[in-house]
Amino acid sequence: MDVAVAAATAAFAAWSATPIKERVQIFFRYRALLERNIDELAALITEEHGKIQSEAEAEVLKAIELIEFACSLPQIVTGEVLEVSRGVECRTERHPIGVVASIVPFNFPSMVPHWTIPNALALGNCMVLKPSELVPLSAGRIAELLTEAGLPAGVFNVVHGGQVVVEAICDHPGIAGVTFVGSTRVAKLVYRRGTASLKRVLALGGAKNHLFVLPDANPDMTSSNVVASMSGCTGQRCMAGSVMLAVSETDHIVRRIVEHARAVVPGHTLGPVISLEAMQRIERYIGEAEAAGATVLLDGRNTKVPGREGGFWIGPTILDHVRPDMSIAQEEVFGPVLAIVRAPDVDQALAIENASPYGNAAAVFTESGGAARYVTDRASAGMVGVNVGVPVPREPFSFGGWNESRFGVGDITGRGSIEFWTQAKKTTTKWNPQAGANWMS
Ligand code: NAD
Repeated sequence: MDVAVAAATAAFAAWSATPIKERVQIFFRYRALLERNIDELAALITEEHGKIQSEAEAEVLKAIELIEFACSLPQIVTGEVLEVSRGVECRTERHPIGVVASIVPFNFPSMVPHWTIPNALALGNCMVLKPSELVPLSAGRIAELLTEAGLPAGVFNVVHGGQVVVEAICDHPGIAGVTFVGSTRVAKLVYRRGTASLKRVLALGGAKNHLFVLPDANPDMTSSNVVASMSGCTGQRCMAGSVMLAVSETDHIVRRIVEHARAVVPGHTLGPVISLEAMQRIERYIGEAEAAGATVLLDGRNTKVPGREGGFWIGPTILDHVRPDMSIAQEEVFGPVLAIVRAPDVDQALAIENASPYGNAAAVFTESGGAARYVTDRASAGMVGVNVGVPVPREPFSFGGWNESRFGVGDITGRGSIEFWTQAKKTTTKWNPQAGANWMS
């Protein structure tokens, strides 16, 4: 960590003094390299993580979109200037904060690092990236391609490791800012420890996302979106819908959801979960819910994929009549599991959603604009969808949740990240003492 921070510190003076229009030229070239190498990069993600090829490719495409936003930053971060008194001018401009660190989780080995790398670097900071020890390969390739694009040595550094390295980041006096993406348990640790050593910290945590399904929802669109939300990326997404709030009479939609979920083929359209431990945790949640009275409509336990029997497989699993007090309805399961909770009306469904300590995402499925607005106004989540099961805001809109899904101020991507990666310098100037004679002159 000391070597990486020393390299970043040494690079900072020249990098931060490079005009932003020059800095982003590297990211134009880097974007082209990602596009050219997308097959290889996607294969690397599949190798280290296990996700299916189409999901790995989608992740690289999203990384490209994030880089495009960074390339547009020169048009966005222009400062302000105003004559505030006769002959006296105030101006603001944005400066980088210094050496920053980005700590990332296992579930998106390329996309989540690209939430922070392009914006932080284009805005003039130098970075130490700490990948998840479960997926260490993409980070090294990212560093190689950044170098190939022309990034000067020391501007971007990778340090592998787990808890010990994260704690060293939080404590290191040479690091000015830290972003974290991962579970809420660790987000709290990093936020507390990083701010205790007076760094700015933005820590994104876990999630429990609720999908409100109203009786008038379009059955086809709703069922395919709900299944994609709960089982896409094998449910290992912080945006995965894991609780469906079935409002009033929605049996016809529940039946369609089960049909759609049955069509998902493990090993083909569904990847494995990350580890044996994860598989056992997910199976435990399903078993406990069943024992507590939930009805198993579709059971993904004991899934076998021919030729890949050693994989950590769980097929799509749907539980009905889950009660809000069950652990499967309250805790993050992080697998392809949907818990259906029945609610007699929208207000009771909202009360269940609002009681969750998390607040990443929520979505409502309905054909009524008024009902959709009623729910989106009242859901306690930072990212809400209407007939969209994974309501990820796309650039230039910012990504970030509420409550225990995010600690710190601002969002991690898009316009919302600019404040985090920079500090404003306010300059007041007078060149003409004859211009006026008031208290400022
Ligand atoms: P995690 O919290 O276990 O690990 C995240 C990072 O913290 C890794 O780099 C890991 O090495 C490090 N780490 C793990 N334990 C630590 C400890 N005790 N002390 C210090 N550092 C530690 O998360 P994960 O399992 O890799 O990822 C899944 C979690 O990430 C889920 O909870 C998911 O919701 C969340 N996530 C959130 C978002 C978001 O935007 N809110 C995005 C992606 C993932």
